[in-house]
Amino acid sequence: MKYALVTGASRGLGRAIAVRLAQMGYNILINYAGNTAAAEETLRLVREAGTDGELWCFDVADREKATATIQAWQEAHEDEYIEVCVNNAGIRRDGVMALMTFEDYTRVIDITLQGFFNVTQPLLPAMQFHKFGRIINMASVSGIKGLPGQTNYSAAKGGIIAATKALAQEVAKKNVTVNALAPGFIKTDMVEGLDEASLKKTIPAGRFGQPEEVAEAVAFLVSPMAGYVTGNVISINGGLYT
Ligand code: NAP
Repeated sequence: MKYALVTGASRGLGRAIAVRLAQMGYNILINYAGNTAAAEETLRLVREAGTDGELWCFDVADREKATATIQAWQEAHEDEYIEVCVNNAGIRRDGVMALMTFEDYTRVIDITLQGFFNVTQPLLPAMQFHKFGRIINMASVSGIKGLPGQTNYSAAKGGIIAATKALAQEVAKKNVTVNALAPGFIKTDMVEGLDEASLKKTIPAGRFGQPEEVAEAVAFLVSPMAGYVTGNVISINGGLYT
């Protein structure tokens, strides 16, 4: 059995990634924050793709719960390990910094940056021991360019890009790769309420992307032949920013 953990897998990009990894033969540990009905639908789609999964409901920023869940799984699966970790859970709480609350600033950063540590750190020893691992972190065009109204989100996504590059160098010798994806506008709940018609005009491709177009990049990075690609950020943005 091969196992992949996808955080924020109940909806949007995480769901598409979970299904794509299931098509590659992975059993999926489906993390989410609280939307159990949506997570169950992801599990149904994973099973339809031919493998199986488990629902892991916890806030990735909650270190105790994240660690306890991962430890309990490892104890119950002595001869197996989680070889793929997709740190995808994320939220946005936009607003100009002059009016932003401290809570909105820190919550966005905590989910991305503490979440990355809480989930990834306990998986690293087994990945290194087995000399195979794939870690993929969901960044954003905001983390490369910085976007007004998103100081919190840009800080989180810029931070995860830097952490990706640092960790990649720590674990490369053990055949563990660490990469980030930087999507532009992708059609999920997260972009609900944005003015798609006017934003589309700013995108050279003239459209928002589909979650499956991001999931395909994950499939590539996870594949054995991508073993020499590490410490990279792949933009998936229809030419919006390069
Ligand atoms: P989405 O449709 O809003 O889905 C967010 C997912 O994250 C849900 O599964 C949600 O679980 C989960 N989640 C939220 N907070 C969590 C927490 N504290 N702990 C665990 N899970 C949590 O978002 P999306 O568009 O798929 O975005 C996925 C990732 O891509 C995010 O990191 C986002 O920043 C990034 N991204 C998205 C876009 C875009 O245009 N959509 C562009 C660039 C980057 P529940 O269902 O339980 O709430």
